[in-house]
Amino acid sequence: MWDQIQADASLIAGAKSVLVQLNEAGFEAYLVGGCVRDTILHKPIHDVDITTSALPAEVMSIFDHTIPTGLQHGTITVVIDDNLFEVTTFREESEYEQYRRPTEVAFIQNLDGDLQRRDFTFNALALDVKGKLHDPFQGQSDLMHRIVRCVGEADARFQEDALRMLRAIRFAACYDCKIDEPTWHALQMHRDKLQFIAMERVRTELEKIVEKSLLSLVRGMKLLVRSELLSCTKSSLSELVIDDDIFQSRIELASDTVSRESWDGSADAITRWALLFTRCEVSPGTAGSLMQRLKFANHTAANIVQLLQMVERVESAQQLGVQGLVRPIWTRAIVDYGKVTAGRMLDLLKADQLFVLRRFKDSEQEGTLIHELNVHGAAWLAALEISQLADLAVRGQDIVKHLKKSPGPWLGNLLKQMLYRVATGEIPNTRSAILDEVNRVIHEYE
Ligand code: ATP
Ligand code: MG
Repeated sequence: MWDQIQADASLIAGAKSVLVQLNEAGFEAYLVGGCVRDTILHKPIHDVDITTSALPAEVMSIFDHTIPTGLQHGTITVVIDDNLFEVTTFREESEYEQYRRPTEVAFIQNLDGDLQRRDFTFNALALDVKGKLHDPFQGQSDLMHRIVRCVGEADARFQEDALRMLRAIRFAACYDCKIDEPTWHALQMHRDKLQFIAMERVRTELEKIVEKSLLSLVRGMKLLVRSELLSCTKSSLSELVIDDDIFQSRIELASDTVSRESWDGSADAITRWALLFTRCEVSPGTAGSLMQRLKFANHTAANIVQLLQMVERVESAQQLGVQGLVRPIWTRAIVDYGKVTAGRMLDLLKADQLFVLRRFKDSEQEGTLIHELNVHGAAWLAALEISQLADLAVRGQDIVKHLKKSPGPWLGNLLKQMLYRVATGEIPNTRSAILDEVNRVIHEYE
């Protein structure tokens, strides 16, 4: 099976060398979890988790370069040729604290005991250095049949750690799996326990659902709505739950696989979250609040809100029925929200065309703002030579000197107006043209 691992040659060689060195020192060691699962699915792997009978101190004594990443959980990071390997001692999690994973664990000496504490059968697979697969819970078969099944009794496993319910949905969404009936039943029984899980952990799972692909987003949202998990989190996310009837059409993807794959190849995480919020008809303000509840980094949340605001601005211009003015409206929006956000907005408009029910309803109608942006928006964006004050041929102090006026709030407004005019091509970006324009309009600012 080693020859089927899709990864950088140095990552594979490093992983092998970690297993060999542990074996030579007299310990058992296996690749485990996501890297084994993804290899069976013929998917590339990005990181390697290793499970071993060696205790953390023993792991640290065997390798030259180690980092005690999660000592109390038994995890040591081993560094080989700039690659990081998480090496964790076989362990069991006997005591769970209020539906969360424990802070203390017990180290054990057998692999099966370690695999037994893992969440789903296909995550409880271990591969040894000779290529032998250890699969005590028929995880490989579940993977082939695309079934998410808890190791052991789902009922007990979800009570031990309620995050596993969200992980079940994440794996079903990302790997196109069905959730096994008893697992689904237990999930519905215990959804209220999700309130004990830190919102950061909830976010990590949602990020994987939303950011992997359009298909995973759609599948994940369906399962999240059906399971009602989103209203059970510590801080409720119920604004993302939409009525089942509307949901079916709004979140259904059209069958244009080629465009979908090309979109998936290019859109960034910010755009994907904004897409989710627009499909759920969540306002920029509510999106900001949802992201705060999910403990997103401030700058990520700000970028998403800004994109939603830009969409709202363009949509309201659309409602005014402005025709023939599309390019100046777009240009002013770029000046206000920035080029990066504008690029994301174009991606968002493209993605909207991949859904059965379009949100930007006029995208097919020639002459409308959204249609024009779909056709010309990217070229107009690329052609824009100036989009920020720093690019303007005059500075605030030039204007202050020219007018012999003391600076005040008027100055910022005036500069912005000059920027709009230069950006839309009304006047050239030269000192004399801008100062002439300042003379012409200054009375409006006095
Ligand atoms: P990814 O591709 O997202 O990294 P992964 O399966 O590697 O997927 P991780 O969160 O990195 O997921 O966890 C590594 C392994 O640890 C899992 O495959 C699983 O065996 C185990 N695991 C992780 N979280 C839990 C949990 N909440 N309960 C039980 N086992 C878990
Ligand atoms: Mg992993």
